[in-house]
Amino acid sequence: MSDSREPLCSQATVCLQQCLGDSVSVAAEDLAAKSHDGLKIAFAPEAVIKPVKPVEVGTLLKLANEYKVPVTTRGAGSTLTGSATPRRGGWVLDLSGLDHFEIDPLNNFCHAEAGAVTGRIQEAAMAMGRFYPPDPSSLKWCTIGGNIACNAGGLRCLKYGVTRDYVVSLEGYLPTGEHVKLGRDLKKFASGFNLRDLWIGSEGMLGVITHATLRLIPAPAARQTFLAAFSEECGALKAAQELLEAGVARPSILEFLDRLSVQGAEGRIGRTLFPEAPGSPLLLIELDGHPSEVTEESVHVESWLQRSSMAHLVASCMEEADELWEVRRKCSGAMFELANSKLNQDVVVPIRREVDLLDHVGKVRKETGLPIAVFGHAGDGNLHVNVMYDRKSPQVRETAAKAVRLVMEKVVELGGSISGEHGIGLAKTAYTDLEFTDVELATMQTIKNAMDPGNILNPGKLFEQFEPWRYDPVEVDLPWDNH
Ligand SMILES: Cc1cc2nc3c(=O)[nH]c(=O)nc-3n(C[C@H](O)[C@H](O)[C@H](O)COP(=O)(O)OP(=O)(O)OC[C@H]3O[C@@H](n4cnc5c(N)ncnc54)[C@H](O)[C@@H]3O)c2cc1C
Repeated sequence: MSDSREPLCSQATVCLQQCLGDSVSVAAEDLAAKSHDGLKIAFAPEAVIKPVKPVEVGTLLKLANEYKVPVTTRGAGSTLTGSATPRRGGWVLDLSGLDHFEIDPLNNFCHAEAGAVTGRIQEAAMAMGRFYPPDPSSLKWCTIGGNIACNAGGLRCLKYGVTRDYVVSLEGYLPTGEHVKLGRDLKKFASGFNLRDLWIGSEGMLGVITHATLRLIPAPAARQTFLAAFSEECGALKAAQELLEAGVARPSILEFLDRLSVQGAEGRIGRTLFPEAPGSPLLLIELDGHPSEVTEESVHVESWLQRSSMAHLVASCMEEADELWEVRRKCSGAMFELANSKLNQDVVVPIRREVDLLDHVGKVRKETGLPIAVFGHAGDGNLHVNVMYDRKSPQVRETAAKAVRLVMEKVVELGGSISGEHGIGLAKTAYTDLEFTDVELATMQTIKNAMDPGNILNPGKLFEQFEPWRYDPVEVDLPWDNH
């Protein structure tokens, strides 16, 4: 798609201010705060718009099309891929102010504005005995609109699925500014094309979501947490597979941490939960459901752990479960003990091929000399490969880029995908050619052209190559950085 827009933004912004008044800010601190997301690579916008009414979104998009102004939608800006970064400047549409939601107990639905924070929805549902399972680790900050736009996953996907599995209908605006409702607030419907699912995972390129109706399920009444240490990394992954294959328990969480991840996290928390085997690879396992089901499955998990692990711990109360969780919670931040920069790849492979991926990462580590740590969702194949590097050295930056390429090539060879939950954004555009054929990419481009003929929404993403390792991140502390 050609991108020959004139720099008319200033006149456009004046017009926008006349239409939307106080919802528009051109204050330097607002522009700086919304110039980047969790990837911390910044491009300056010309204005930030924080609507107080959904209808303002339609007005803004119509003006953006008239003046050819790029628009980048954002929720909390917690994406780690740069998908909420205003790559072409223009207007940032911040939906975090549209955060009302309510629960409909008859239908087990939650009707939410796009800016509602995921963790708040979970808490409110839980207070009514309902459960909204998708649980990205960022749930204290991220919004439901951002989750839907990225098809966010999290720790419990193994048993409960991803955001897509809980979206009943969506409401919002096409890139050209017309209002639409995609899907219906009904238990079933079979009418027309499924445009709703086209918006899910489209990373803010095909429309702006203002409302979502979400499906809730009954809250599990019981939970049991285990943490186990293994002598070998591959041994831990094989044991996880064995548990899944046996079919005697359906864990909601089955997390893997390799040696580097454990060593980093234990360093951060200043202790080890297994003094007899510090720094050993770990599996964190959680069961949930009806108390009798959890009790029965726990017996099977205990005997599996007796056979396969070096040592294991079982939480007897919520506080103990919280302690077992600490090492997992700390491992992402602890990566920065290894080097000052991270290329975080949330790759996913078939569960049977996790061991092959881990073997390959070991080879890439040796070949490049970089610390590369792997942790993540062993139960669903979504392992986070963290290539750590020193960005001060141009040579090391290139080596890090090479390491990621080698990992991505293997992931695709193993039948996997370059992203399990974070999406493409800016960070993974360099690898789309590995996963998609020219025909597949051209089909996506055709859909984008049809829905957004002016290329207004989130331009510069997916179809254009970007090399994040060549950019210096902005020096800011984001709310989640120290959690
Ligand atoms: C500490 C931490 C842990 C994380 N853990 C996980 C995890 O476990 N699983 C996971 O999947 N992700 C995780 N993430 C990534 C991130 O939180 C998710 O991608 C989340 O869904 C982004 O939500 P957001 O509101 O911050 O969206 P933003 O970052 O603001 O935007 C993300 C994308 O969605 C688009 N978008 C946002 N709102 C809308 C809207 N209303 N309409 C249309 N498009 C929109 C944006 O244009 C952008 O493309 C984590 C991030 C951090 C910082």
